[in-house]
Amino acid sequence: MKKTLCYYSLFLLLITVPVSIQAKWFESKQGIMGTNIQVELWSESAVTGEAAIEAIMSEMHRIDQLMSPYKPSSELSKLNAKAAIEPVTVSKELFDLISLAIELSKETQGAFDITFASVGFLYDYREHKKPKQNNINELLPAIDYRHIKLEEGNHSIFFGHENVKIDLGGIAKGHAVDNSIHILQQTGIKYALVTAGGDTRLLGNRLDKPWMVGIRDPRNKNKQAVVLPLADIALSTSGDYERYFEEDGKRYHHILSPKTGKSAFEVQSVSIIGPSSTLNDGLSTAVFVLGVQKGMDLLNRTPGYDGIILDNTRKLHYSNALVE
Ligand code: ADP
Ligand code: MG
Repeated sequence: MKKTLCYYSLFLLLITVPVSIQAKWFESKQGIMGTNIQVELWSESAVTGEAAIEAIMSEMHRIDQLMSPYKPSSELSKLNAKAAIEPVTVSKELFDLISLAIELSKETQGAFDITFASVGFLYDYREHKKPKQNNINELLPAIDYRHIKLEEGNHSIFFGHENVKIDLGGIAKGHAVDNSIHILQQTGIKYALVTAGGDTRLLGNRLDKPWMVGIRDPRNKNKQAVVLPLADIALSTSGDYERYFEEDGKRYHHILSPKTGKSAFEVQSVSIIGPSSTLNDGLSTAVFVLGVQKGMDLLNRTPGYDGIILDNTRKLHYSNALVE
């Protein structure tokens, strides 16, 4: 009897030890798409864990090659170079993301508009460069998502105005995060965090506790304005501190109002919580442009999506479902 028990224990040890020794959190941080990518995931095997991180990082590189406005070889750059002359056939992925961006423009009364780049390309936040008012006036008519003509049949895109440029900076990182989570789900990973800049999505919880996701104080990078316990959901933050410069006491930052071609100024940061990182990303940019009143109205009529706004007097506002 004793001997059997002993063999039995040995057997248990043999089958459990390899798993428990290797099961652990795998982590990686890399700079891709001009931003910080962070992955944390739980895997029972080192091979699977490391391969999953590798797969996510190469997905981030793939999307960068496809959608970067800075790489002349990207599909987006080729589209910008030619679509005002003739219709350009693009990949289904780019076509679908541009279609979704246009849907968001319609839902947000044009606050989210990827043609913002028609004026936006004149800014260089690193070089403290901004356009003169007459240049803005000249190019402002090109900002209008209705200039983008989509041909579903052959995935072709045509710009109905000669000065149109598009940029997916307000939505592409969320898309990359969603794709990464789908890759993890296919691999069988159950607990993970994937972040690209301000866009985070969580798979499951952090084993036996929630993930603690912070929204940073827009005016102090070492301080959190809010920390939220979250699981199985995504959160995106848009802030006026990511890319900006100051001149004559004014802040010039990377979220532009499509109406003026200038930085939106009503709020300092917007965080959106919802199931899709792509939509959170687009909505956080849109609500930033819309400001407190119109932004909250939009969130309160959008099922499944909630938000926290920090306005320019540093007051916090929560959408209805977060305070009910
Ligand atoms: P980030 O994580 O880079 O801060 P955000 O989600 O806050 O991204 O979006 C900011 C980016 O969105 C800008 O860098 C620009 O590429 C793009 N953008 C700026 N204004 C608009 C707008 N009105 N509509 C759509 N995209 C915009
Ligand atoms: Mg965004």
